[in-house]
Amino acid sequence: MATIRLEDLHKSFDDFVAVRNSNLTIESGSFFVLLGPSGCGKTTTLRMIAGLEMPTSGRILLDDDDVTFQRAAKRDIAFVFQLFALYPHMNVRKNLAYPLKCQGMPKLEIEARIAEVAALLRIEGILNHSVGRLAGGDRQRVALGRAIVRRPRAFLMDEPLGTLDAEFRDLMREELRQLHDRIGATTVYVTHDQVEAMSMGDGIAVMNRGEILQAGTPDEIYFNPSSMFVAGFIGSPPMNFLAGQGPLAPDSGGLQVNGAAVPIPHLADGIGHETVVLGARPEHVRLADDGPLRGNVYGIEYMGARQILTVDTTAGRMRVRAPHDARVAVGETVGLAFQTDALVVFDGASEQAVARLPQEGAHG
Ligand code: ATP
Repeated sequence: MATIRLEDLHKSFDDFVAVRNSNLTIESGSFFVLLGPSGCGKTTTLRMIAGLEMPTSGRILLDDDDVTFQRAAKRDIAFVFQLFALYPHMNVRKNLAYPLKCQGMPKLEIEARIAEVAALLRIEGILNHSVGRLAGGDRQRVALGRAIVRRPRAFLMDEPLGTLDAEFRDLMREELRQLHDRIGATTVYVTHDQVEAMSMGDGIAVMNRGEILQAGTPDEIYFNPSSMFVAGFIGSPPMNFLAGQGPLAPDSGGLQVNGAAVPIPHLADGIGHETVVLGARPEHVRLADDGPLRGNVYGIEYMGARQILTVDTTAGRMRVRAPHDARVAVGETVGLAFQTDALVVFDGASEQAVARLPQEGAHG
């Protein structure tokens, strides 16, 4: 399995920049997710790694091999477009054998490989079945098997679960991740679904407008987002943003938000700009009569184990995660307090996170 490295990778279509100077290391054996909204350059990045699109500049390395301008077929990478793409006129065994036959592999070796993959995917019992008659889950497994049987250096997957209904997608998500844990193949997975990214990835790169904004573990991206864009893209309900009054000294300890003084973590450097934005995830805000912020409960979503409250405060509308037994009613006035060590502070002008000083018990 290979480590994949992108160095200053850039792709323009005439004047339009689809991928802008990307630098990224995808460790060998990891499940890495490219995440971002539609049109942000995920597929173009994946196609360049596969060799289906030539970069305008920059380099792609598989381990220490520079493959930037190598033909796709030479790279030994499996691109799984859509898990349903099988040859309908062949049975399962022939579908699995086909890519190996094309490589000119001897028959006995092909049979051994098929047996190995069939055991891995638990499809031994359907090898002689026609693919046309397979149930959805089995079809997905066979399609994956056809990619795995080649033992490529890496797998690339572009929204492979995008066309499935929600229940089946959850199931396949679990299966894909388990399969990855069994075979440990470097996988690059493209999705615009942050839940999919958070639940499947060892690492995530969040992209927007052709740029990689942040790459890290799901934990790093969730608790230490580098910008308001990343913070807002990850998490459901999303992070609350409260605009307050700058400039701020490193040890100011509090932010004036529309008349309320909200405690903030100690900052490594101050913020010179007039606007400072505080980021608070719904689970880092709690109901507290003596909290610094007050607001009216606009709505309540009961979720069983917890409730999500929508509260209209003087600093704007906020989403708050409350315990399932919190006694609140729509229209009631409540106080809100913050878990200070988990707050993220952004410079309002650049929308970039400002470094915090490490605190005991804080995340990340
Ligand atoms: P989606 O999830 O919608 O596929 P994406 O993040 O994968 O989005 P890309 O498919 O990489 O985005 O496209 C990035 C941008 O580059 C888009 O604005 C797209 O229109 C543009 N683009 C992609 N391929 C070409 C091409 N061959 N010619 C011109 N523009 C292109």
